[in-house]
Amino acid sequence: MTPLYCPQCRSGLVRVPVQGREREQCPACGHTVFHNPAPVVLALVEHEGHLVLIRRGLDPLAGYWAPPGGYVETGESVEDAVIREAREETGLDVAVDGLVGVYSRADVRVVLAAYRAHSTGGVPLAGDDAAGICLVAPGQLPVQPPPRTGMPIDEWFWGVIEEVTAPWRWERQPRARVAQR
Ligand SMILES: [Zn+2]
Repeated sequence: MTPLYCPQCRSGLVRVPVQGREREQCPACGHTVFHNPAPVVLALVEHEGHLVLIRRGLDPLAGYWAPPGGYVETGESVEDAVIREAREETGLDVAVDGLVGVYSRADVRVVLAAYRAHSTGGVPLAGDDAAGICLVAPGQLPVQPPPRTGMPIDEWFWGVIEEVTAPWRWERQPRARVAQR
């Protein structure tokens, strides 16, 4: 992850204290390399009264059920990324409803923003790096054990998934179910 050469002039970088922290700096041109976490989105998509989860095909947490999500790309807003990732991984067109929360940890190199969204079209179908898809009724959230890899990102991401999907762990109020009939 750490570049060896200056991205400006290709000279070799050295580690020096800059503004109270060890950073890579170029002795030739003075360029300092800053490390910034990458922005990631998670989409809590409601489709016909169900929460849409995908089975993750890639690490972190490959094989776990999780809301669709991925990296925000240059040229799109965070909300655009929610819509794009939901479309790629679930086949659903979605509209963004609002921010659930922003999650980060010092030893994890991403900052995650979770959004609520609802489907506006399309048919649920696992795509891109999703290995499966499921529609979770209220109270039917899959129980998933915490990872035992010892990797900070796995442990952290599992906790984020648990937290953002928590509203789906319980059945809705009886009154709401009667109203749906
Ligand atoms: Zn340089």
